[in-house]
Amino acid sequence: MKKIRTRSAMVLLLTLAFFAGLFYHTVNLVFHAKEWTLMPINQHLTAAGDLEYGGSIYDKNGVTLAYSSDGMRYYNDDEQIRKACLHVVGDNSTNMINSIQNLYRSELTGYDFVFALGMPKTLRKGKDITLTIDTDLQKAALEALGSYKGAVVFYNYQTGAVVCMVSTPTYDPLNVPEDLETNDDYEGAYLNRVLSGAYSPGSTFKLVTAAAGLENMTDVEARNYHCTAKDKIGDKDITCEFAMGDVNLKTALTYSCNCYFGHLAIDLGKKKMTEQAEKMGFNNSIRFDGMETVKSVYHVSDANENQFAWSGVGQYTTLETPMNMAMISAAIANEGVPVMPYVVENISDSDFQHKRSYGKRMMSEETAEKLCDMMDYTVENNYGKWAFSDTLDVCAKTGTAEIDDYGIEAHAWITGFCKDESCPLAFSVIVEHGGSGFSTAIPVASKVLGVAAQKNYQ
Ligand SMILES: [Zn+2]
Repeated sequence: MKKIRTRSAMVLLLTLAFFAGLFYHTVNLVFHAKEWTLMPINQHLTAAGDLEYGGSIYDKNGVTLAYSSDGMRYYNDDEQIRKACLHVVGDNSTNMINSIQNLYRSELTGYDFVFALGMPKTLRKGKDITLTIDTDLQKAALEALGSYKGAVVFYNYQTGAVVCMVSTPTYDPLNVPEDLETNDDYEGAYLNRVLSGAYSPGSTFKLVTAAAGLENMTDVEARNYHCTAKDKIGDKDITCEFAMGDVNLKTALTYSCNCYFGHLAIDLGKKKMTEQAEKMGFNNSIRFDGMETVKSVYHVSDANENQFAWSGVGQYTTLETPMNMAMISAAIANEGVPVMPYVVENISDSDFQHKRSYGKRMMSEETAEKLCDMMDYTVENNYGKWAFSDTLDVCAKTGTAEIDDYGIEAHAWITGFCKDESCPLAFSVIVEHGGSGFSTAIPVASKVLGVAAQKNYQ
């Protein structure tokens, strides 16, 4: 009797385990079948993951960026457009994790849960995707970057539409170079540096330190400092490019006084600096339309006094993604709250609809207004409005991010936005080893702005 009872219990247990397993795998199938089917390891897929029968990808003006015909995947006829749009559109491989052809492969290939890939390819209904990208700006950015490695992003700070997202080095998806994996010129070519590049922000970070000052010190605008080009903070000097004489918050930002901002960071303290940096996107990543950035980093808990002072001018271990940098400018332009970026405007035959959304408030409306005024003053009095565009009213801040290795050129940065109603774009540009932000990053931004000025992005 006891034996029978034990056996019954065993059978019951096994039955329960069977149904639990069945339930687990069914749930898994429903949620993950799409990913499994479209994994490159699936022998039923073709080399391009069935993109050869997939839908088309268009830019915001209807320019075809990718399409399929007779079992072949094609890209735009213009090689420069193919190269400029590579990191957004993707190639036939799945190496570009943040590309549309990777993230939206099931929509493009017409994946169906019931038939999976069993349906004849010619009968599958691949959906078409329209992006927010403007091919004219893409081309201008690629041309402006030239042989430099770097990244350019422009997005509408009112709607969130990303109109330009270019990363170099790049390559032609129709003629993938054979030495892509071995040639140093293509180092990191699979990465979209707008999202996956994290760089020392240099002086562009002074916007964060200035915001921390404006948010936490009532008298910060009245602070004066006499710059002699170097000042001992902690055990070492903090240095400036030249002796700037008497500066206040506004002129210290305009002429980029490291000594001023080093002292400001020290007086604010690690807690407030970290709080403000985190409000402005540091120690976090940004996600939109399936894309994801790496984290921007601000960690000062182990910094000594001198290192902490340098962190206030964007050096030490601080890292910034170009996308986050553009969002900071967007927040300044948009009363302290950044609109979330997006790249997918429309997916045919679907209920997809983009909904405008906002990130967390980065600063008060008053602080945003003051930073806006300071960036305006910086362009007017240091770089020159003419350096950007004949017609657009640009506010900006450059950065030159020093690299520790002796003799290696610094990374050149610029971030900013246009005040014009017809062109509400926020942007950031990084030119790796470009030298100074003023001489290398401004001309890149300016070239794209020149094309944007001809259009209406309202
Ligand atoms: Zn100085």
